[in-house]
Amino acid sequence: MTPLSAGSLVLRKIPYQDAHLIVTWLTDSFGVISTLARHARSSSKRFDAIEPVHTYRVSYREGKGGLAALIEARLLTVRLRLTSDLEALDAAGFVFRWARALLPAKTPEPEVFALIVKFLDDVEGGHVDGKTCAVRTGIRLLELSGYGLSLDACVKCARARPSGRDAYVSPEAGGVVCRACGGGRKVLDDGVLSALRLADEAPLSPDYVRAGLHLIDETVNAHASGGTGGTSGGTR
Ligand SMILES: [Zn+2]
Repeated sequence: MTPLSAGSLVLRKIPYQDAHLIVTWLTDSFGVISTLARHARSSSKRFDAIEPVHTYRVSYREGKGGLAALIEARLLTVRLRLTSDLEALDAAGFVFRWARALLPAKTPEPEVFALIVKFLDDVEGGHVDGKTCAVRTGIRLLELSGYGLSLDACVKCARARPSGRDAYVSPEAGGVVCRACGGGRKVLDDGVLSALRLADEAPLSPDYVRAGLHLIDETVNAHASGGTGGTSGGTR
């Protein structure tokens, strides 16, 4: 089979036997693919060091079953700050975990690829708070995956959420659920719900960041396809 080539991000790498790696990539052209990188853990001329947070140009050959053979991986964009800033790395960990859980295998998602590249570049640039950026990216990732949250109106009857008050939220239903429609198991206040639907990059307060990350986590878990390994485990 002819090798395929794509710009790629590392969604996950798992050691395999003594010397190999199984690497799950989000590619710009082919969506999520899993590859076997033979001898990637010993010295290899074909693979640059495979770490999350950088962008690579990879070529691979489709194989039997779900696993492709990685032929080459070359660094395109190196993000050094991200590799050494634990707070930023932690923020990236959320985004990679959500992407793994939400994205089906081998389905091109160019907008999601661009979204995550922008997230990594923004955090690498250091002008934005990493966790705020993760929350904004997570909200958009849910929209692009077809699970956008309804934060201004009841997800069931579309009645506008009264401003200035707490509201019931159901991650499973996909957002605010009014009392008449049965409410949701979470209660979030007006401030956090209004802040989360804004698309700007103003830093969120630590409380709002925590609430946002948690809401996205719960929504992702409610919809996880599991096709790329669910939401558990790290990115390294
Ligand atoms: Zn309702």
